[in-house]
Amino acid sequence: MTQRILVTGAAGFLGSHLSDLLLAEGHSVIGVDNLCTGNPANLAHLAGESRFSFEEKDICQPFDVGAVDYVFNFASPASPVDYDRLGPETLLVGSTGTVNTLEIAKKYSAGYLHASTSECYGDPEVHPQVETYWGNVNPIGPRSVYDEAKRFSEATVTAYNRYYKVNTHLVRIFNTYGPRLQANDGRVISNFMIQALQGQPLTIYGDGSQTRSFCYVSDLIDGIVKLSRSGEHLPVNVGNPVEWTILECAKEVLAVTGSKSEIVRKPLPQDDPARRRPDITRARTLLGWEPKIKLRQGLEKSLAYFQACVNG
Ligand code: NAD
Ligand code: UDP
Repeated sequence: MTQRILVTGAAGFLGSHLSDLLLAEGHSVIGVDNLCTGNPANLAHLAGESRFSFEEKDICQPFDVGAVDYVFNFASPASPVDYDRLGPETLLVGSTGTVNTLEIAKKYSAGYLHASTSECYGDPEVHPQVETYWGNVNPIGPRSVYDEAKRFSEATVTAYNRYYKVNTHLVRIFNTYGPRLQANDGRVISNFMIQALQGQPLTIYGDGSQTRSFCYVSDLIDGIVKLSRSGEHLPVNVGNPVEWTILECAKEVLAVTGSKSEIVRKPLPQDDPARRRPDITRARTLLGWEPKIKLRQGLEKSLAYFQACVNG
């Protein structure tokens, strides 16, 4: 049966891809976004789609889009550069914004999925990260506006399930990339791809030995939609478990772009996590989900998008 679905953060990277998939399945989508980091161009192709509507609003103000069957809450600045610039706003959207969207799910007995993050693990002492690990987060450091808001959101989402029986889901997303990743948000894949295509030096922060695990966007959205339809209320990691050092990642970008850019070193930002790799046993067993796209292949699929960003 087709559903009426609210997607917050719909003009963002992940929210726009999620909206596309839900529309392709025949559902109706109401996209809400205040465009603080999102880009209307991500939704431009939906201009003639009668099952899609867009409302520009800040989810920190209570709002009501009428009865919905499902709420996907993706609104939040997401890159370290963005949440550093929008610190108080990030704390608010991850607290008041989460409550406001949960109230909608409660009012209409809708399902609810919150986009949480591997940042809940902070700079992890347990490797790879399992969902039962409580994390190692600096509560007052530069990343705290994001990390603690996301941890508060997880507590709130869990409370709405526990106390009000809302059918909630929590996905802990690990670094994801692909077309529509904002070109200027400072994330490692967008920075490296743009720098490589412009022939500028690739900026490695620190010695490049820190690790991340990169998931291609279509794999991630597939896992998220499967989780939203499962009976699982506890957090589930969704990400690609193949771990790369940042230096190895830079070399992959150079290989895919054919760029001759050099690599330069810049200072490592404070509290930059030393390693990140999801244990996806729960996603595998609960959802039958597995990422399919390797980093090399995903970068190749993203090349035309970043090329277009560079060409303006
Ligand atoms: P994005 O910045 O591209 O998208 C976020 C969207 O939320 C933007 O369109 C922004 O304008 C909107 N937004 C922010 N505050 C809002 C508010 N108060 N009201 C309405 N809209 C608001 O980032 P993304 O990568 O698409 O991330 C989407 C979600 O996934 C975020 O919640 C993020 O924390 C989470 N996440 C993403 C990643 C990743 O690797 N991309 C990893 C972990 C978690
Ligand atoms: N990074 C880097 N050069 C850049 C951008 C990022 O070396 O131009 C590093 C950053 O210090 C971190 C990793 O790449 O160790 C991932 O950074 P990103 O901002 O993409 O996401 P994070 O996982 O830190 O939230």
